[in-house]
Amino acid sequence: MSPVPPSPVPPGTGWPDDPATAATPVAESADAVRALAAAAGTLAELAARQSVCRACPRLVEWRERIATEKRRSFRAERYWGRPIPGWGAERPRVLIVGLAPAAHGGNRTGRIFTGDRSGDVLYASLWRTGLAAQATSTAAGDGQRLVGTRMVAAVRCAPPQNKPSMPERDACAPWLTAELGLVAGGLRAVVCLGHFAWQALWPQLGAVGFAVPRPRPPFGHGAEVPVRRPDREAEPPVLVIGCYHPSQQITDVMLDEVFRRARRHSGL
Ligand code: SF4
Repeated sequence: MSPVPPSPVPPGTGWPDDPATAATPVAESADAVRALAAAAGTLAELAARQSVCRACPRLVEWRERIATEKRRSFRAERYWGRPIPGWGAERPRVLIVGLAPAAHGGNRTGRIFTGDRSGDVLYASLWRTGLAAQATSTAAGDGQRLVGTRMVAAVRCAPPQNKPSMPERDACAPWLTAELGLVAGGLRAVVCLGHFAWQALWPQLGAVGFAVPRPRPPFGHGAEVPVRRPDREAEPPVLVIGCYHPSQQITDVMLDEVFRRARRHSGL
């Protein structure tokens, strides 16, 4: 049996969908994240920069240790062990915002919500509601494709206990700001998976020009808040929708209702 290649995956070494190369600039601090995110002119460039970021020492140490030690059942697999970049349509009408990748899910497979139970539930719903091409998402290069939809994490590295600190959330925020800025023009709905994503989204929407309600609307499953950019009154509103995280007690019916609503509103 040939040895398993090293984990984490060095950028530009042939991993399917790896957006980076060895020449992609690496953010080593929160200031560098701000600068590199703001200067990324395209989604491809932004995803590449996100995928090699090293700005949060605790999270870098954790994601790489998990990738090296591995879970016993995945010992024969290679772990991505890097930040998870945004994934999906280049001009999305629906944006799905999650919390952070799972240690043995996205941190292993390199694709958001892929390789763990929550992701299985999520992708099955996206497929039933016409937002994903396949019912499963198992690994980069598996043929899965999102339909008019893009998925991002508010924090792009797997955190210990699935709990990023507030400074880590803030350090990662410019990646989301930049991504929102690049896709906002065609966006019609944003689905926030869980309270953390809901909380993280509002300042980001404000940063890219949307009028954000004050006080911030409370999170709830099925909560809907239309937002507009005052300088683009002619555009239809973007509907922000709250959804319980798929790791919580949520039924398929509840998930499907949210994604059907997002799809209908987006005209997909
Ligand atoms: S959490 Fe975000 S800012 Fe921190 S290292 Fe990961 S990608 Fe960079």
